[in-house]
Amino acid sequence: MSDKKSKGQARYDELAYEKKNYFETASEEERKEMFGYAEGYKAFLDAAKTEREACAEAVRMAKEHGFTEFRFGDPLAAGDKKYFVNRGKSVVVFRVGTKDLETDGMRIIASHIDAPRIDVKQNPLYEEAGMCFLKTHYYGGIKKYQWTAIPLALHGAVVLKDGSKAEIRVGEDPRDPVFYIDDLLPHLGAEQMAGKAGKIIEGEQLNVVVGGLPYPDDEVKNKLKLTVLKILNEKYGMCEEDFLSAEISAVPAFSARDVGFDRALIGAYGHDDRVCAYPALTAVLNGESEHTVLAMLVDKEEIGSEGTTGMQCKIYEDLMEEICSCLGASFRKVRYASKCLSSDVTAAYDPNFAGVYERMNSAMLSCGTCMCKFTGSRGKSGSNDASAEFVGEVRQMFAREGVVWQTAELGKVDAGGGGTVAMYLAKLNIDTVDLGVPVISMHAPWELISKADLYSNYKAFLAFMK
Ligand code: MN
Ligand code: MN
Repeated sequence: MSDKKSKGQARYDELAYEKKNYFETASEEERKEMFGYAEGYKAFLDAAKTEREACAEAVRMAKEHGFTEFRFGDPLAAGDKKYFVNRGKSVVVFRVGTKDLETDGMRIIASHIDAPRIDVKQNPLYEEAGMCFLKTHYYGGIKKYQWTAIPLALHGAVVLKDGSKAEIRVGEDPRDPVFYIDDLLPHLGAEQMAGKAGKIIEGEQLNVVVGGLPYPDDEVKNKLKLTVLKILNEKYGMCEEDFLSAEISAVPAFSARDVGFDRALIGAYGHDDRVCAYPALTAVLNGESEHTVLAMLVDKEEIGSEGTTGMQCKIYEDLMEEICSCLGASFRKVRYASKCLSSDVTAAYDPNFAGVYERMNSAMLSCGTCMCKFTGSRGKSGSNDASAEFVGEVRQMFAREGVVWQTAELGKVDAGGGGTVAMYLAKLNIDTVDLGVPVISMHAPWELISKADLYSNYKAFLAFMK
């Protein structure tokens, strides 16, 4: 065999399209950057397990980069670096560019900072059979059985009777205790295991063990409960009634770790969607741009983007309008000229569950950040479905800046589906397309991504801002 390609092979290589593994095509230097970038990302994941914490961490990082808080009514000028906090649960970090806003528009990257978890109910505390429990109501789409028999941490905020707020974060420090949802032993689990997986652990069985020590007083009926209440009172000034105005979540107590002998992958809780939020944030913090650029880190995507902190809330529109009016630009014209990357994760092709994927149009791990022209389900329903023209524009952007990327659909046609915030931005008359990192075991307590895809996502955002 000769080393030279045949004419046909050369022609094929020229005309045909094939995805490539980014680790393979990256230079030695670029590979080092990938691994270096991943370290900052892992630290962000460990600091930010809830939307409140992600918001606070984003603000801390923004301040470190010389960004200052923006409030409605503040003046704005080209070159300003600002962040806008919405109720401590979502944040928009932005830079005012030098280009004309009406003709150039805004460059928006939108991702979410909430993640599936187990929320504590409003009247949660009880004791039974030597254990003290918190009742819960899960948040987002989870496989309930995955959340049992793993160490959990409790994060959240409690608004006390007097209106003051106590922050809770227990289970992250190695010296902290952790919490636990129990499962049935296999010896007695025959009937359970024969049932449907969606039912083997039911919602009302997701009770979190939070104690087991009786209060030393024989007259007290609920001794275990009193011990827990006493600790909560000493630590946070809480009494039981304060659960009524609390948001406490059980999240996996695991920290982010490299996965594999070669450390190519990262396992962590909440890659969805911090694996897009972190690159969006760092791109706006670090990147150079003549455009006006916004990273929107929003809440409640996992439950339909509702509420005052979800993407459907008018506040994001109000903020954009406020920026326009500060700069003397018509919001209507600016919207029309704006472009948005709705940045959320997609399902990576999993060879162990090949049946639900269509391989040619699946996101392949390490082949770069993934564009989904459309999402939705049952015939693209509930999808933004970006135009060929806009996809073409983004494609040229990425080619110019050497971004390694791919396209995909979430699974086989009619195998299921999912949505993102894309359609809410598109509704404002802003060209929008989905772009995000492929994830293995999405919505599991510990999800898996590739460092190559994380870095590619960051590079894509930098290119989008150029
Ligand atoms: Mn998501
Ligand atoms: Mn999700």
